[in-house]
Amino acid sequence: MKVCKKCQKEFNDNLTFCPFCGAENADKKLTYFEKKTAKEQDKEFIISKASIQDEDAKNAKEISADNLTVKLVTPLKKAKLLSILKIASSAIALVMLLVIGFLVANMDINKNIKLFTIMGAFLLVAVCGSLLISEIYVMLAIKKIESEDFSLRKIYYMLGPVFCYGNNVYEINTNMQCDDCNEKMHVELKDDDVYLVCNKNREHICKITKDNYILYLKDKLSINNNWDIIKLRGALWNF
Ligand SMILES: [Zn+2]
Ligand SMILES: [Zn+2]
Repeated sequence: MKVCKKCQKEFNDNLTFCPFCGAENADKKLTYFEKKTAKEQDKEFIISKASIQDEDAKNAKEISADNLTVKLVTPLKKAKLLSILKIASSAIALVMLLVIGFLVANMDINKNIKLFTIMGAFLLVAVCGSLLISEIYVMLAIKKIESEDFSLRKIYYMLGPVFCYGNNVYEINTNMQCDDCNEKMHVELKDDDVYLVCNKNREHICKITKDNYILYLKDKLSINNNWDIIKLRGALWNF
């Protein structure tokens, strides 16, 4: 770990610039070109850490599955219905936009108006298209978790990994705080194992193996009969 000369925060040895305040932390004075290269290397290093690296996974401390929390997201039927509705509406919008674009292109009107309308339609087509693709991904992922027992998957952007049990979709998360810096942690997946990763420093990481979390989740879901109460509290339609 390096300590920033300016803000005194700790950061990774591989970085030249402090990720918190941006101050240069080189041992010697850098030339313009060296600075540029160092910045690029820093960027690459940070991107490489965006997913869990084999080396970090290997060094991760194993902890108990008690550190996980389970929350009902939605009944499975609703998740599927919502996904189908989103796919259908973005597909319809896409077709309509293409038709409008085609009609306007063949109209005998002011050139500038024509150009703006077509450009606008093109932009909306791109938005609808990406919505459609992401929703198809969600749909396929729901199908997949539905078919497997306790298969965890990151499907929803704002939620942690989810799994299906019975007729419901559940999210797993954690309340655990990082041992090193007391920051909150979040859940990530790698090779079927669950990792708790510190929100501040991705090298602060612990691991819960598949066998452990499956036992824990099964236990939690069969002993606990309070799921209906949670449902009533409005955990539905959480996304
Ligand atoms: Zn700094
Ligand atoms: Zn930490």
